[in-house]
Amino acid sequence: MNNRLRKITIVGGGTAGWMTALILETEFSHTSSPKDRPRICLIESPNIATVGVGEATVPEMPRRLRLAGISERDFFRETNASFKLGVKFCNWNTDAQGNRIDYVNPFAYGQMLEGVDAAEYFLRFGNGDMDFTQSITPHDDLARHCKGARPLGEPEFQQRFGYAYHLDAVKFAGMLAKFCTKRGVEHIRDEVQSVELDEEGNVGHLMLERAGRHDVEMVVDCTGFRGLIINQALGEPFLDYSAYLPNDRAMALQIEHPDPDRIESLTRSTALGAGWTWRVPLYNRVGTGYVYSSAHRTDDQAAAEYLDWLGDSGKGATPRIIPMRIGRMRNGWVKNCVAIGLSGGFIEPLESTAIHMIDYSVRWLAENLPTRAIEPSLRTRYNREMDRLYNEVLDFICLHYRLNNRTDDPYWIDARTEMKIPDRLAENLELWQHRLPVERDIESATLFSHRVYQAVLLGKQVYDTGFGAGIRDRIRPLKKPIWFQFCKNAKADLAQILKAMPDHKTLLRDI
Ligand code: FAD
Repeated sequence: MNNRLRKITIVGGGTAGWMTALILETEFSHTSSPKDRPRICLIESPNIATVGVGEATVPEMPRRLRLAGISERDFFRETNASFKLGVKFCNWNTDAQGNRIDYVNPFAYGQMLEGVDAAEYFLRFGNGDMDFTQSITPHDDLARHCKGARPLGEPEFQQRFGYAYHLDAVKFAGMLAKFCTKRGVEHIRDEVQSVELDEEGNVGHLMLERAGRHDVEMVVDCTGFRGLIINQALGEPFLDYSAYLPNDRAMALQIEHPDPDRIESLTRSTALGAGWTWRVPLYNRVGTGYVYSSAHRTDDQAAAEYLDWLGDSGKGATPRIIPMRIGRMRNGWVKNCVAIGLSGGFIEPLESTAIHMIDYSVRWLAENLPTRAIEPSLRTRYNREMDRLYNEVLDFICLHYRLNNRTDDPYWIDARTEMKIPDRLAENLELWQHRLPVERDIESATLFSHRVYQAVLLGKQVYDTGFGAGIRDRIRPLKKPIWFQFCKNAKADLAQILKAMPDHKTLLRDI
């Protein structure tokens, strides 16, 4: 008898649940006829709210929409989306004179000059008062001038400059729900009251509040931080990352645009006393939040600091507090259950990686889709790759904290000196005191390549503030005219680009 999966049950209707439905449906419809595909059904509690944050993405998202056949125009209209050209880190470090540094980590691809990385030239010769990002790509200047990511009238998804999106998380889930149900995903509004295991320990069926018994072949747990199935029913241990990352709470507020005609095309991450704030400008409003450490601030202290940072925009407001479980399941796939989204793990939102990790996990699940026998080798390979992905992201997030040089609050000193860092990052940091990151330093990077590491090291100006002392004398001899010609050309191009590109708001209105 055919042992193919006939049904996949997703529990949870947040971003993770609906992204899972979207990606599985997309993969199946590209590869099989309707009668051969597993049916996808998604169960969502009408009473339990989604986490309601998670509004900044990475450049994989445009590709995801395109593959699924979602028009960018519909997406922008339905989710009040805007363009994101990168992340601006404000006040995480100070320069050699003690002045605050703001730098952009852009969605750009890096530059090679005569076979040598532009980062090496920049480190050797600098570029006047231009920082590294400004020297190699227009992203920072475009965002500074509130410009859009492409000219008016250019076709959808055209990546002239690498970009991602800001989106309204609640509206995004709603849009995906509409899209997926049209394509045949069954949407059940009901609450899972209990999870029943069979004699082999697999999830056998779920008991729903209204509909009663729901039989399961394979289930994807997208129930958020509560991890209803993977954690509570299957008892998979949680690997706590609090030794690596200090922040365990967040508070969030949506505010109005101070000037609705000026929409910055990037996310801002501003370091405060005991953590950092996000600022995500959408078309119609701005999402903000403070991610902080409860070991260093009470909620009241954090709220006071956050509202002070918001100024007039936060007057009289009460931020919503979100406790965060930082870490991951030891295994994301256990028996016949795969945990995706916050139920599987969460490494704080500093680089907006969570939605990308959902996308990556579901694609990898689709590659390793089992039959009803749930073959252990597929499960093992899936879990091994998730392990790698989490380590990749953990390394990169820890980098930001370890290389901060603030001394004005014990939080920042603890973040630099007391927090553990993963072994691979420790080894790389030792190495990068002697040369810049190169491709082979980061094995099988899928998101954070050596170029992104270069952008952080040079953005934070670590080589001018004590890290890797004397590195400039050790790097290979380079021809100065090659670099200066490049900078001259880039400056001339930038003037043209700024003239040619529309305001972000104008572009969004046009879309
Ligand atoms: P949730 O949104 O919590 O959804 C859980 C779902 O499960 C809900 O639909 C609920 O009804 C359902 N459910 C729960 N129990 C039951 C039950 N018994 N029966 C039926 N249904 C049930 N990610 C990014 O990529 N970029 C960002 O900028 C970003 N910022 C973040 C900021 C903060 C402070 C936090 C905490 C997270 C952030 N994230 C970000 C992560 C992002 O928000 C999540 O990855 C994403 O929203 C997915 O959440 P989820 O669907 O796993 O969980």
